[in-house]
Amino acid sequence: MKTWLLALQQQLSRQIHENKLPHALLFSGVDGAGQEEIAHWLINVLLCQDLTQDLPQNRKQETEENLRKVSQVSEETTNAQPFIFQPCGYCKTCKLFANGSYPDHLTIVNDKNTIGVDAIRKLSQFFEKTAHIGIAKTALVNHADTMTVSAANALLKTLEEPTSQSFIMLTTHSSDVLLPTIISRCQKFEIRPPVGKKLLAEYKKQGNDAFVNLSHLSELTDEATAVAFTAFRDKVKDYLCAHQHRAEILTLLVERHDGFRWLEKILVNLMRNQWGWPTAGHENQQASVINKQQLWQVYNLVQAANIKLKTLVQVNRQFLSEKLLADISLVVEQKKQ
Ligand SMILES: [Zn+2]
Repeated sequence: MKTWLLALQQQLSRQIHENKLPHALLFSGVDGAGQEEIAHWLINVLLCQDLTQDLPQNRKQETEENLRKVSQVSEETTNAQPFIFQPCGYCKTCKLFANGSYPDHLTIVNDKNTIGVDAIRKLSQFFEKTAHIGIAKTALVNHADTMTVSAANALLKTLEEPTSQSFIMLTTHSSDVLLPTIISRCQKFEIRPPVGKKLLAEYKKQGNDAFVNLSHLSELTDEATAVAFTAFRDKVKDYLCAHQHRAEILTLLVERHDGFRWLEKILVNLMRNQWGWPTAGHENQQASVINKQQLWQVYNLVQAANIKLKTLVQVNRQFLSEKLLADISLVVEQKKQ
């Protein structure tokens, strides 16, 4: 678990202990901040039927110690004693949850970058039935910002009429896109990881990148994402210089939700390089084939597309991506005429 999530784990553990966990929770933060990680942990804690038994030895002692403290000491002392609940990982429910087949939990995934009304209706029906195994029922809606308007309205109804012992977790990287009526019915947790040197230190990364910030978290924290980003960056350079890889870039922009942000980041680094500013490194000389003015124009196109993507509801991502690449091609082609 990421170190900056520990305080939140303590807070949520306390809320569970005091029976004050709300029916709906919204975890938001930039990609890689850990919102899905914390939601997953919380659901597992709620479902685990054996928080104190069948634990690995070190964790068993730790949790038993915590529970002993919680149950035996006075309320006053309990308040001062931070603790974190951990699922056992060995009970039947933990095992079923780990392999994705626990019947009293439902995860809603976004298909083709949106969550439609059918998925949310499925969620409502799921909560109407009583639990199969335990008492609690849980649902997780990842990328809740990608819900269509009708899906969001359907969810609103479920949030307004909670069934007992039901918990809905929403995660998002841009809560400003969510309907305010949804937000107001959830307890909202904004996850704010460290930035700059502290962030690099967290991952024991070398380097002196003064520009490293929260938007780079997913590339920093996940090796596969870092590899995908590097591959994408190289393709974008080839596209700008030699008009190659159009189809692959288009696919990535359409299918990867951070594709547009990546493109903007790549262009910023190319411009820094061209203007002789310090960069995150690795930007080679290829971009100098394009002049400063062209790169600036391309950057502005990407930035405008990014703003459209963030502000327009249900924007046609495919069309936006195709138009952007066509516009970039026009700018890049200018030099040849
Ligand atoms: Zn368990």
